[in-house]
Amino acid sequence: MRAAALTLSLLLAFAAATAAPVSAPDPVTEDTLLANITRRAFDDPDAMLDELSRRWPTHAGPGQPREAAWLLARGRVLLAAGQAEAADTVAAQLMAREDGVDRAWLLRALIQERTGKPAGSLAARALAGLDKRCPVGDEARAVRELGCDFRSNWEALRLLQREQSGQGVLISAEASVRRALALARAGDDKHLAALSLGTLATILQAQDHVDAARAEIRAAQVEAQGDLVAGARVRNFEAVVERRARDLGAARSALEGALLLAEQAEAPHLAAQLRSNLVDAYMHLGLLKEAQAAGQKALPVLQRFRDKVYERGLHHNLAVAHIKLRQFDAARQELAKFSEMPGDPSDLVPRARELRELGDTWAEAGQYKEALAAFHDERELNARTNERNRAAALEELRRKYDSAAKQRDLNLLSRDGQLKDQQIENQRLAQQVGIAVGMLLLLSIVLIVVTLVRMRRAQARLTANQSLLRAQSERDPLTDLSNRRHFLAVMDQAAREARSEGFRGALMMIDIDHFKNVNDWHGHAAGDSVIVEIARRIKAAVRDTDLVVRWGGEEFLVFAPELPGSDLAQMADRVLRSIGGTPVETGEGPLRVTASIGFASFPLGGSAGPGLRLHWEQAVNWADMVLYKAKAEGRNRGVGITAVEVPDTEALGAILQDFDAACMNGQVRLSLLLGPA
Ligand code: GH3
Ligand code: MG
Ligand code: MG
Repeated sequence: MRAAALTLSLLLAFAAATAAPVSAPDPVTEDTLLANITRRAFDDPDAMLDELSRRWPTHAGPGQPREAAWLLARGRVLLAAGQAEAADTVAAQLMAREDGVDRAWLLRALIQERTGKPAGSLAARALAGLDKRCPVGDEARAVRELGCDFRSNWEALRLLQREQSGQGVLISAEASVRRALALARAGDDKHLAALSLGTLATILQAQDHVDAARAEIRAAQVEAQGDLVAGARVRNFEAVVERRARDLGAARSALEGALLLAEQAEAPHLAAQLRSNLVDAYMHLGLLKEAQAAGQKALPVLQRFRDKVYERGLHHNLAVAHIKLRQFDAARQELAKFSEMPGDPSDLVPRARELRELGDTWAEAGQYKEALAAFHDERELNARTNERNRAAALEELRRKYDSAAKQRDLNLLSRDGQLKDQQIENQRLAQQVGIAVGMLLLLSIVLIVVTLVRMRRAQARLTANQSLLRAQSERDPLTDLSNRRHFLAVMDQAAREARSEGFRGALMMIDIDHFKNVNDWHGHAAGDSVIVEIARRIKAAVRDTDLVVRWGGEEFLVFAPELPGSDLAQMADRVLRSIGGTPVETGEGPLRVTASIGFASFPLGGSAGPGLRLHWEQAVNWADMVLYKAKAEGRNRGVGITAVEVPDTEALGAILQDFDAACMNGQVRLSLLLGPA
């Protein structure tokens, strides 16, 4: 007892140290303290009841935030002391608190268990609320931040799992214990983790996974290290595993080891339960005396702890031992006590095992009446068990089917998801292709536009070049006047437009007088500048619409479309004066220059009226002819044709043969203009 007292006082000292006077201790630390008190209460409930009352803090007073946690602890300690009714009152208190409802259900479930009644549905009710604060997969954070009461959750799962195992619904039982294990690990409670692993081992063993079960036992032992009670409980689980594996020797030594640990931990209740289990082991090993001795030692302790469930089991085991020892009366007494004890009617599987064992033992002892009764009971129970197993099997099948269907749905969903992903990927690709094509198109359009623009520019340049070339080819470089080629083009164009009407307009042929002398006396350059100046003066003397052409070296031709004869004479006069009126400035000094002009207006006509149509070349010949006349008559003058009296065009040709004669006989009438003196 000294060691336990030391452990406890250490624990409480720890709690006292953490319970600072200024503020309430951290709930997680306080929950650990409550868990230790509850655990210890299993073997020392009265002391723990005192301890709990003595340490009850103000922040766990009526209506205070931590009241529910402390109330649950009190309920559980009361239950450990066998005070089920007092525990029920606490459950009612918990039920009155909004944050105590789940724990109230849990406490009621624990009361059911303690009194040998089914506890699963109440535990499930507790779980429904508790699970909300401890979301699956996020338990560790929930313990730290969401106020997940993982120990209550664990306890409710343990009860649920017990019922599931009792009903043979092993897959569900395994799921429950694995979830409980996750919670224990999340709360870093090695004690609970060890118990979960031990329980898991027994469930795996029940499913004939012997090696897996033993591996879980080893894992449980690791978790239980340094915790004598946990160590003892794990070895008890080990015994269950080995017993079902039909290794009775191993089961026995596991139980003896467990007992040793429980005694070291000064845990009398646990030790009594282990002894009760040992009775069964010894009996099956034929060690009847040892079985009886262990049973006798356990019975008063179980009674003291009001552990009806284990006491009932013990009565059964003792009855079997008595039968084997042929102490039939004692056996009947034990069986009578056994049937007085309340049993969980839902624990069909263990009950059938008991009846089978009883029947076999009676039969071995030759007590056929009793054996038959036991077999009859067993058959009845088996019928019920089978019925329930069928239901359970169906339920398991349904669950399996459900999970298979769910898996199928999930597969379909994931395939669907993959297809959708593929679709999205395809769309993305199509989009990219679209964008690329669009960009290519855009690029092509841009290229086409650029090319077109370049082509047009090139075309424009070409056209400009051509027109420049044409302009250059139709322009005289020295004077910048039109040249003979341009004049021909204009005439051709005019002829095309006039069709067969012949040449219309006035012509004036100008030739500088004695120009040869200018060159000879003043040099070619001076000659050039004279030509340029004369060209400028002619251009200035005529209208803008008139075409001035450099016809030859120092010969100019002016073409004036639509100009009446009188106007033409005036124009010729202006030209004469502008050339001869002012000396031309040259590098050699001022130089007087004169020119002679021949002019005529077409079509040629006389008193008979206008209308002799000529080709433009013939018109130029006529102008040339009168220029010759002006030269011949002394230069620095103009000679124009005023009238031509001929019947037809052919006669006109004859006139040119002898122009002077035609002038003399009046066929051609001329006018004369004198240049400046
Ligand atoms: P006329 O009064 O009979 O017309 O006498 P002319 O000396 O002007 O006659 P002709 O036609 O015989 O002489 C023209 C001269 O003009 C001959 C040629 O050397 C010169 N000439 C022709 N073109 C150019 C030119 O571009 N520059 C220069 N400086 N002289 C030219
Ligand atoms: Mg000449
Ligand atoms: Mg001349």
